[in-house]
Amino acid sequence: MNRLTWGGVDCLKLAKEFGTPLYVFDTGIIKSRCRELRETFMERWENTMVRYASKAFLVKEMARLIKSEGLGLDVVSLGELYTALQVGFPPEKIEMNGNAKSHEEISLAINSGVGRIIVDHPDELRTIERLAREKGIKQKILIRVAPGVDAHTHAYIATGATDSKFGLPVDISEGSMLNESIKFAMASDSLDLRGLHFHVGSQLFDPDDNVRGLEKTIELMKKLKDTFDFTTRELNCGGGLGAVINPSVPPVKCADFTDPMMKLLYSDCKKYGLEIPKIIIEPGRWVISEAGITLYRVENIKELPKLTYIAVDGGMADNPRYALYQAEYEAVNVEDIDAPIYDPGDGTKFSVVGKCCESGDVLIDDAKLPKLKAGDVIALYNSGAYTFSMSSSYNRLQRPAVVFVEDGQARLVVHRQTLEDIIRNEI
Ligand SMILES: *Cc1c(COP(=O)(O)O)cnc(C)c1O
Repeated sequence: MNRLTWGGVDCLKLAKEFGTPLYVFDTGIIKSRCRELRETFMERWENTMVRYASKAFLVKEMARLIKSEGLGLDVVSLGELYTALQVGFPPEKIEMNGNAKSHEEISLAINSGVGRIIVDHPDELRTIERLAREKGIKQKILIRVAPGVDAHTHAYIATGATDSKFGLPVDISEGSMLNESIKFAMASDSLDLRGLHFHVGSQLFDPDDNVRGLEKTIELMKKLKDTFDFTTRELNCGGGLGAVINPSVPPVKCADFTDPMMKLLYSDCKKYGLEIPKIIIEPGRWVISEAGITLYRVENIKELPKLTYIAVDGGMADNPRYALYQAEYEAVNVEDIDAPIYDPGDGTKFSVVGKCCESGDVLIDDAKLPKLKAGDVIALYNSGAYTFSMSSSYNRLQRPAVVFVEDGQARLVVHRQTLEDIIRNEI
């Protein structure tokens, strides 16, 4: 019997010590991803930067880790920005994204001195201008565009098409949103329009999705140069690098995504006679997803004809990703990771389901698992991204704890919600 260890720590022990469900992150993996970003992107290509997309997973300790790894941070809300500021994250290395920023969010961003605001609407641009003018500063901004690229991913996480809710269409004809925004920003003493931003989608495995987005955006840079004599000094190409399903699958290499983009950038900018802008990327999932596993205890097993439900003590409240967009997961029995897959040979399907009062509360629809019994602990691989950050207290379940592990050591970084926490804000 070969037990599952994560970061050198026995997972059965973790389940016993901290309870289940439990989010466990191997910080060694997170650091090695950050190192790969530095070594194969930032150090290989000059004038580049990485801002980790907080929405994938952010707690105070994660913000500290990203800070110590020398990367920047992409935030989209008061809560994410506040978390970063609370641990002393350098504000100039933070950028504020989001398609519907509130006045309060824009105001906190400007007052705390964030490095960039990524503008997603002409009205937002006017608000930023006014607040920056009142404060007597020149706010650095990028404008987010939708390059009209349909990424090869689930429609719910594709963001670059022309009819996306994100970004401004690349149309720069008189009266278009982009035309008005560029002219307004260029004419203002309180705005420093550094360039553009695009993000074609998430969970991408084909580098071509980003390359096509970049190609379209460089065409736009050329038009902006010709029409407004505007030089794009910065270009943020978003995130999107995919995460693999289990540790036996080789991870996506950062360079496989960034090298083709940088090569295209150099050749197309030369072709059009454009200056090479600073390139920023914002990976989220790729940094954190494979570092994270979630431990669950099996509560019971219900055998129906051709269908067996393996019901665990968590579910869509701690991980809504299957319910949202049929995200795929694989799991193992932590007590014996080499146990053979159980298959009674009659076509029975094994479904790992949660404890929430929804039939859509599924973690793995068609699981390949060894024979399990109530009380066993399973680990869901590749579940570090968009799980804790998307979790809820549905059914008044307590949000699980978060543990960081590395080199055989485990430390609690987020307490499990208490019952007191559940009613904390209630009158
Ligand atoms: C979601 C998002 C990211 C991160 O996406 P991942 O797939 O997690 O890398 C980066 N930038 C923007 C603007 C996003 O919306």
